[in-house]
Amino acid sequence: MMKVDYIIVGQGLCGTLLSRKLVQAGKSVFVIDNRNPTAAGRVAGGIINPVTGKRLVQTWLIDTLLPFAQNEYATIGQELQTSLMQECSILDFHPTMETRTTFNEKATADGQYLSVSDKEEQWQAYFRFNYGIGSINDCLLVDLRKLIKSWGQYLTANNNLTNEHFSLSDCTVTNEAVVWNNITADKILFCDGANAATNPYFELLPWSKDKGEALIVAIPDLPRNNIYKQNISIVPWKDDLFWVGASHDWKYTTTDPTSEFRNRIEQQLDFWLKLPYTIVEHITALRPANFDRKPFIGFHPIHQSVGIFNGMGGKGCSLAPYFARQFSENLVNGKPLMPDVDIKRYSKILSR
Ligand SMILES: Cc1cc2nc3c(=O)[nH]c(=O)nc-3n(C[C@H](O)[C@H](O)[C@H](O)COP(=O)(O)OP(=O)(O)OC[C@H]3O[C@@H](n4cnc5c(N)ncnc54)[C@H](O)[C@@H]3O)c2cc1C
Repeated sequence: MMKVDYIIVGQGLCGTLLSRKLVQAGKSVFVIDNRNPTAAGRVAGGIINPVTGKRLVQTWLIDTLLPFAQNEYATIGQELQTSLMQECSILDFHPTMETRTTFNEKATADGQYLSVSDKEEQWQAYFRFNYGIGSINDCLLVDLRKLIKSWGQYLTANNNLTNEHFSLSDCTVTNEAVVWNNITADKILFCDGANAATNPYFELLPWSKDKGEALIVAIPDLPRNNIYKQNISIVPWKDDLFWVGASHDWKYTTTDPTSEFRNRIEQQLDFWLKLPYTIVEHITALRPANFDRKPFIGFHPIHQSVGIFNGMGGKGCSLAPYFARQFSENLVNGKPLMPDVDIKRYSKILSR
């Protein structure tokens, strides 16, 4: 029987960052991941955008989350001897005069992340647009697939990862210990992404799973140092390809890729992009989103050896690094979690 401090279920974005923090703190982990190709972390664009929505409001805690994430991805990249992050701007091609006016007013009032692009002419060769371009600055593009793969290789080399499906029926959970196959641990931490919405321990949390689709597209002549946005985003992706997306669908009837999405994106690209392009793949996943748009972190109120690190929705790249450190410090030193993210706020619901 192998004994570890923590069994971690899921090595997507959350399982990667949390297991790394715990290993750094001197704790032993055993990670179980079924390498689901349609898990959010393998489908995501990897963008950290400090402003959100039509009104271009700064996202929650961004002044704290962004520098922390930037430092963390750079450090992990150094440790794993690879590059995991690109600093870039989002070129926001205004679709209407109204959106241009809103952007310019915001940029004048609060220029921290927004500026008006002075290079509009340069982009006329690549895109059709009539209402100018705004620049959203200080964005990051995280290579999630490489991060998950590289950290997975590190765990495998240390015999701390198995690539198989975890089922609760193979697990014995008491408040003192957790036993799975030949592994025994003090605690089990679920980092199982959108699957947590059907996990018996946590299915009562207010999940609001959000289906996202994206196309992987070859656009050989498009420069790769920016993200381009006009309702949809064109984002540099692996192997000289671009990721184009994404949809948000909370009322999906299928988790498969849909022809409606593909047709809509093709129409948008035909209208917007002046360059030739070829679609090479159509991908889709469920975002582990929830109604209060804040992470779910902490321990089950009754089953005290069962924890969760989840609920990152569509913003895992910025939220997960900061809160992985916070959860790790909570686990190792008992430092309190921020009440906004602590699942104690759902104790009543989870105790039913
Ligand atoms: C289309 C799309 C676009 C997105 N774009 C962005 C973006 O630009 N920026 C951003 O910040 N976020 C984005 N996201 C959201 C981001 O992907 C998530 O916030 C993040 O991946 C959540 O991390 P997670 O670890 O909770 O889940 P995941 O990354 O999905 O990881 C869950 C892991 O658990 C494993 N697993 C689940 N159940 C089991 C089981 N029973 N046994 C074994 N293993 C299991 C899965 O294989 C997977 O590896 C996007 C998501 C989608 C779908």
